[in-house]
Amino acid sequence: MLPKRTLMGPGPSDVYPQVLAAMARPTIGHLDPAFIGFMDGLNELLRYALKTSNSVTLPISAPGSAGMECCLVNLLEPGEEIVIASNGVFAGRMVEIARRCGAVPVCVEFEWGTPVDPDKVEEVLKAHPDAVALAFVHSETSTGVRSDAAALCQLAQNYNCLSIVDAVTSLGGIELRVDDWGIDVIYSGTQKCLSAPPGLSPVSFNEAAMAKVAKRKTPPQSWFLDMNLLTGYWGGGAKRAYHHTAPINSLYALDEALRILKDEGIENSWQRHASNHRKLRTGIEDMGLEFCVEPDYRLPQLNAIKVPEGTDEAAVRSFLLNEYNLEIGAGLGPLAGKIWRIGLMGASSTEKHVDLCLEALQAALSDQ
Ligand SMILES: *Cc1c(COP(=O)(O)O)cnc(C)c1O
Repeated sequence: MLPKRTLMGPGPSDVYPQVLAAMARPTIGHLDPAFIGFMDGLNELLRYALKTSNSVTLPISAPGSAGMECCLVNLLEPGEEIVIASNGVFAGRMVEIARRCGAVPVCVEFEWGTPVDPDKVEEVLKAHPDAVALAFVHSETSTGVRSDAAALCQLAQNYNCLSIVDAVTSLGGIELRVDDWGIDVIYSGTQKCLSAPPGLSPVSFNEAAMAKVAKRKTPPQSWFLDMNLLTGYWGGGAKRAYHHTAPINSLYALDEALRILKDEGIENSWQRHASNHRKLRTGIEDMGLEFCVEPDYRLPQLNAIKVPEGTDEAAVRSFLLNEYNLEIGAGLGPLAGKIWRIGLMGASSTEKHVDLCLEALQAALSDQ
């Protein structure tokens, strides 16, 4: 038997029991007329959550990294330049994927723990007038930083670039408006603030993005993630063609998680994440601990806390896991050993979770 944990790391978050129960519904065929109706409903729920009317809005049958890869391989052709703003782990992956597409990534680096600075991005866009896209991470889970997606998408538009936004940790946790902000391409994940199991990546492409995909000179380097083929299955109506066997039961789970989000109301979900973050913040500061990120651009759903001098950070995490069945995250890259990452995402963003985490952390620090 595997243990039952409370998940307060950088994802996965606790999965709602109703969502786990939804996975136990009977499996039916991926071309069953009843399943096709279900898919249409699921895509409509995704449009609600993303605040978009994009007809190409669907879940990729693989985790967030595949959503990232899907956006990049469809948009980029060999030799094309893409500006990638990097302020943490995830933009590094975008650079690597872009390179493997034969594209030319132009990376703009920012210090970890700080947001992407639109002025600096603008200078680079000016210097690279042929760039076709600007990519950035809205919620940088490795550091707990929010960047200004609306401002960056406006910049992309001003410089004739398509915007590609990583919203894996944003969706459901903080304000996110695909159409109002002029986001051209976006990908997300299920296991962060949606509290569904990992393994799916919702993506959405607007008309400008699909127009670029349609006039490609070369097919995307990935067959599985080729949007022209994927829309033949997801958007084909009665003429839907087999592409791959959809992960039926995982899609039931995502559908249930999105219904829970819609019942709560997405703005209420943003509020709940903000309010539980404030509660955690009070407790953390009362314990004499500090946040790494300035208040203006802190993510409520991912709290990066400085490890106090002389504390064994890994021993604290082991203590939480062994004594409290509570998982929190460690730092990555230059922040390894220096921070803890406390997630308050989706079903894990409750007052009870905050209380448990503060109690456990206090006990762990006393134990040292
Ligand atoms: C978790 C995460 C990803 C990757 O998602 P996986 O489901 O682990 O592949 C990408 N970007 C960000 C910002 C994330 O937090």
